[in-house]
Amino acid sequence: MINVTKSFLPDLSEYTSILQQTWQNHHLTNRGPLVQQLEKNIREKLGLNNVLFVSNGTIAIQLVLKAFNLSGEILTTPFSYVATTNSVLWENMTPVFCDIDPNTFCLDAGKLEALITPKTTAILATHVYGLPCDTERIAAIAEKHGLKVIYDAAHAFGVNYKGQSLLNYGDASTCSFHATKLFHTVEGGSITTKNSDVMKQISLYHSFGHIGDDYYSQGINGKNSEFHAAMGLCNLPKLDMLIEARKTRSELYDSLLSTGGKVTRPVVPEETEYNYAYYPVVFESEAILLKVRETLLKHEVNTRRYFYPSLNRLPFLNTTQPCPVSEDISSRVLCLPMYYDLETEHIERICKLINTI
Ligand SMILES: *Cc1c(COP(=O)(O)O)cnc(C)c1O
Repeated sequence: MINVTKSFLPDLSEYTSILQQTWQNHHLTNRGPLVQQLEKNIREKLGLNNVLFVSNGTIAIQLVLKAFNLSGEILTTPFSYVATTNSVLWENMTPVFCDIDPNTFCLDAGKLEALITPKTTAILATHVYGLPCDTERIAAIAEKHGLKVIYDAAHAFGVNYKGQSLLNYGDASTCSFHATKLFHTVEGGSITTKNSDVMKQISLYHSFGHIGDDYYSQGINGKNSEFHAAMGLCNLPKLDMLIEARKTRSELYDSLLSTGGKVTRPVVPEETEYNYAYYPVVFESEAILLKVRETLLKHEVNTRRYFYPSLNRLPFLNTTQPCPVSEDISSRVLCLPMYYDLETEHIERICKLINTI
């Protein structure tokens, strides 16, 4: 079976050699030396002021919402993974869905202002598939209305936009280092913010809200371990190689998929150094998508409906907020297999199967 993704694994000997120091110092978790080394290496690699390594990309969003003391309504995207919405609900906030841009599939900044109410406190947007949101326009609207901007940058590790890491935008950015992501630590995530007071607060929250015997606030456990950090330390130096390998495969798909308007792709905004994290294609109709999916599955190729359903249609939300663009694209978009060592002949076979439908 060819899966939609495949986690990169370093040589086992490389992983265990990093862990040798853990067997010596018996420091397994609670911000040990490997966690701190990984944070430093990520900061240097991506050019960030600060990075906090946390247990996953979902708790990362929750910690940010908590640290900015947000409540009420948050303007968010309906086209993302369910964790974006769930973290909002878990923090007792109300998600207000703003429809997406039909080119980038990111939140449509032009539709934000009409949705702002006296209860609105923030914007939570996803750089979906690693494609940058309209950060300038979002920042301007946020400033005008006194809102915080938080980016779910779970797909954006390694993306540069206008000369800097996409994780540098907004009041805070979160990332996921889950095993299915481009750069992974098995489970893991990160928070980046330029606001050092907020970073202090987040750091406190992610470790039960106390330092030694001094108890400051209601915290939670969002820490990550030395074992996860060791995987990150192995994988981080391979980032450029992993992106390059995906780029080659993405370009092969581009050249083999017969277009002629039958298959469309999201547009990479200008001034973006992309990471090729996913390979989404949009078909003419949901019926064609289902046919393609079934045919590929018969040939042992697994695809994923990333992202479906449109989050404003989640069955457990008891509101109806129509987002016609997101609902339309969600029904027609499919992510094809994309990983660092996906074989050329498999891509050729997948494209041939799609082209016959
Ligand atoms: C993967 C993902 C998350 C959640 O990350 P975890 O590390 O799995 O908790 C959040 N948002 C988006 C857009 C994601 O793709």
